[in-house]
Amino acid sequence: MSYRRAIFILSFVLLFYPKLINAESEKDIYEQRLQLYKKTEAVTNIPWYFLAAVDQYERNTLTDTSDEPLISITIPKHIWYGTGNVSYIEDERIISFFNGLGKDGNGDGKATITNEEDILYTFAHYLLSYGPSREDIKIALFHFYKRDLTVKTIMNTARIFKKFHTTYLPERTFPVSTDHNYSYRSTWGDRRGFGGLRMHEGTDIFANYGTPIFSTTYGVVELKGWNRFGGWRIGIRDINNIYHYYAHLNSYADNIEVGDIVSPGDLLGFVGSSGYGPPGTMGKFPPHLHYGMYKDNGKSEWSFDPYPYLKRWESMTK
Ligand SMILES: [Zn+2]
Repeated sequence: MSYRRAIFILSFVLLFYPKLINAESEKDIYEQRLQLYKKTEAVTNIPWYFLAAVDQYERNTLTDTSDEPLISITIPKHIWYGTGNVSYIEDERIISFFNGLGKDGNGDGKATITNEEDILYTFAHYLLSYGPSREDIKIALFHFYKRDLTVKTIMNTARIFKKFHTTYLPERTFPVSTDHNYSYRSTWGDRRGFGGLRMHEGTDIFANYGTPIFSTTYGVVELKGWNRFGGWRIGIRDINNIYHYYAHLNSYADNIEVGDIVSPGDLLGFVGSSGYGPPGTMGKFPPHLHYGMYKDNGKSEWSFDPYPYLKRWESMTK
């Protein structure tokens, strides 16, 4: 190759490299992550979907997603290097002398707190130190996060990833059958009178009694049963740590139980007017599905407006 030709190719690459990175589809990042999880599984025997679920959970706690790292698991410095390793020496033997967790996963002789392979390898080793079973992993996660909902969410996310053999699950469905008549508008934040003055935390989708209600996302059924406000309701937590709340049902689908894994479009139940009183109360308002979305960030949970999402899912479903 001539010198000029080489220069030409080099400048071409430099000019378009950032664009090439941008064009890299969202799915490629999922593929890169999956490869890292599986590589770590190969050397630690911790199934990839547990590592993927922890990583996914941590990614969902990030507030700034503009510069999203490939792997989001973060291990606090004093836990990585060990208390007393004040100069943050990356030598595994020094770290282990100070009872730190940090390990060298990529074989460069250093346990680097910002290196993806080192992070995954270190976390897998931490899990292994409690034992290889599902129960052991649960205990290890509880000792790390000290929060029941976090452990439950990670374990359920792992079950979803295992079942579908991927972490890339972008499909969504509108929650009310689009083959039936229905109507809705943005009412999030409106005032509600029953049970003291409350804010309306959701969108009401009006439809006839018996109209099928579908799961909007992949997730696990977290709650099912009567609620004084919501009547017969069902709650599903998805892999983005969003809790989807379906209320005022007439009845449930036959085979739907707490702990079940659901996919977008799975039948959950039927539109009704249950709620606003003791179990069985019906007909205090026109039949509709109340659909609420709640985000959990590992510390607290808050409601946000489902309306823009419903609009998008409606056009994806139709
Ligand atoms: Zn409502």
